[in-house]
Amino acid sequence: MKNECYIVRDLLPTYIDKLCSLESAEFVDQHIATCDKCTQIAKQMRAEFDIDENVDITANMEQKKPLKKLANFFNAQRGYTAFLRAAFWISLIVTVGFFIYSLSVLNDINDERKVARSVEQEKQEVMEQSFEVLSTNLDETALQKIFQEYSDHLQHLAVFSTDHINDFTLIREGITHPYSIDFSRLKEGPSNAYPINYSQAELVVGDGGTVTELIIPNDYDIGTVAMANEEWIIQFEYKEAYFDTVERAHQSKYYGPSNWIIFQLPLILLVITSFILGNWIFQKRITKPVNNMLD
Ligand SMILES: [Zn+2]
Repeated sequence: MKNECYIVRDLLPTYIDKLCSLESAEFVDQHIATCDKCTQIAKQMRAEFDIDENVDITANMEQKKPLKKLANFFNAQRGYTAFLRAAFWISLIVTVGFFIYSLSVLNDINDERKVARSVEQEKQEVMEQSFEVLSTNLDETALQKIFQEYSDHLQHLAVFSTDHINDFTLIREGITHPYSIDFSRLKEGPSNAYPINYSQAELVVGDGGTVTELIIPNDYDIGTVAMANEEWIIQFEYKEAYFDTVERAHQSKYYGPSNWIIFQLPLILLVITSFILGNWIFQKRITKPVNNMLD
């Protein structure tokens, strides 16, 4: 065996793996062309290498299978993250939309509340001022003055003596009912009341001191307001033109929605949006490193 054969055989593994330099490869080629023994060994080594390579490929494929499963899993996770992202933005837009809507509702409700407050305040003022006059005596001129002040809204203002109407009959739609006044309620403050017959009044101001129209108690009787102390009952009627405002005030006071009700829906949506956001952030955190690996 020539010296060259030793060198060629040292080079053969890298030559077959195609890892040697071009010069070395040319040298091996030239030698093999002239040396049968080395040609034989090269053939043998190549055959072994091919088997190894096939084994490697199968092994790699076996190794890649779970990786592929993992990749599929994380692709699905990526899809889920994308879904959460879309769900979050949609939910956020809907929530903001409902918040804006609720704010406009609140604005309208606050206007109604303002009306209700001013109606309540006016009731108080009329009663306080009238009772103050009555605390000295039944001064018609002073009561006229109070009535004039509120004549935009009031039709009549009447004073009854509690001595004279402890037992009185209510003439309603032509039928006479015995009727007792709930004094304890009327003493607490101005209340909506079944109208006491104005013919029993000590004094009526407005409409020249006489009530010609027929006052029929309606379902609410929110058109009549009364208040009592030990001595007197003051009762007034609202003008028909002002009745809508009184009705609105009544609705707002007793049936108006609370702020909680107004903002209930957007607040629930906010909770849902936050929940989706939390899930999205969590999902992003667990898929991010894997995404970097897969990309
Ligand atoms: Zn040789």
